Amino acid sequence: MTVFQRRESEVQSYARAFPVVFDQADGARLTDRDGRSYLDFLAGAGTLNYGHNHPKLRDALVDYIQSGGITHGLDMHTEAKEKFLETFEEVILAPREMDHVVQFTGPTGANAVEAAMKLARQVKGRNNIIAFTNGFHGVTLGALAATGNQHHRGAAGVALTGVDRMPFDGYMGDGYDTTDYLDQVLSDASSGVERPAAVIVECVQGEGGLKAADFGWLRHLEAVCRKHDILLIVDDIQAGCGRTGTFFSFEPAGIKPDIITLSKSLSGFGLPFAVTLIRKDLDAWVPGAHNGTFRGNNHAFVTAATALDLFWRDGKFAESVREKGDYLTNRFRRIAERFPELGLKLRGRGLMQGLVYPDGDLTGAICKECFKNGLIIETSGPNDEVIKCLCPLIIDEADLAKGLDILEEATATVLARQASQAAAAE
Ligand code: PLP
Repeated sequence: MTVFQRRESEVQSYARAFPVVFDQADGARLTDRDGRSYLDFLAGAGTLNYGHNHPKLRDALVDYIQSGGITHGLDMHTEAKEKFLETFEEVILAPREMDHVVQFTGPTGANAVEAAMKLARQVKGRNNIIAFTNGFHGVTLGALAATGNQHHRGAAGVALTGVDRMPFDGYMGDGYDTTDYLDQVLSDASSGVERPAAVIVECVQGEGGLKAADFGWLRHLEAVCRKHDILLIVDDIQAGCGRTGTFFSFEPAGIKPDIITLSKSLSGFGLPFAVTLIRKDLDAWVPGAHNGTFRGNNHAFVTAATALDLFWRDGKFAESVREKGDYLTNRFRRIAERFPELGLKLRGRGLMQGLVYPDGDLTGAICKECFKNGLIIETSGPNDEVIKCLCPLIIDEADLAKGLDILEEATATVLARQASQAAAAE
């Protein structure tokens, strides 16, 4: 029995799908302790957009530590924080004409969501928040109330309150604009839906099955929020930091969210780090009201500022993500064409795309086969029916092609195996 079996809680999850002991990592690759190399198309569930151990980020961090830089400073001002804020202002906020202030929350995405929801409730003096079907916002109680996933909700043990659910874009089928429904219930004082403080939305639903909201839908959602005096929170924890081909996932829709949550790839290096961006006039916090010991991770400030400098000062990196996203779309189309019997559908945007398979048993078998052949890739969606590509954005074309080859061949292998098992059973 390994120490993981003896001493690690049953709550472990990814470890079950990839049951080896990993030891080294570099770029888009992980190596286990037996020296076997894997292409990593999970990338820390969207945390490693710039790959594992990017040498420039690593060097900046090592230099900082060796020079005696501060590791922990509560939320006190440090040079590392100053540099991060200045770089974030200069490279991200100012060019987008965003006057948002930065709240350093506890270092997980869920904590940034908790802060966003609390603040919206305070500002508007209302309890209710609207979240969307299949949305995922974290598993602490406040955020979990906004999360749709039954597996996670079922673990809460208490009533999850203060959130009403509305259908996400496409939930009611094509040709039905679900923001019209939202507008309708909010316009009817007796609809039974309390006027919310805010709406929280992912522009591309990471855990919920890679559904990408239409830009027109997002614009109409924003208009409905303005019409009813409701704040718009975009949860960009998974889709942000360049994953969809722009720094924020909402940019091509042209909307201006009041509050934005960011985490995962913000540190650029896989270090825990989360922020809630707040439109300046909504910053109603009193000092310390949303507190926490680990607010502002100085090591993450160093790597985050370096990553912003390296990748976001001009548009070249974003352009490369869009190009790789186009390649991914084409490859997914080819896979769908090769297996017409599966009726595979494409979802997502940029390097956040997935293939919808008929069911979660099939995707589970395919991901297992991928792992056998050196590819780490995971499922998403209400029934795990979507195989999702979250490869590092810095991946080179050869590795991207190789990973997709493995996925395509794994699909063929699993289908052939199923066919021969069915024949044998007859
Ligand atoms: N919001 C979104 C969109 C996410 O994808 C996630 C995590 O996958 C979270 C919030 C929660 O982040 P964390 O797991 O760091 O609490």
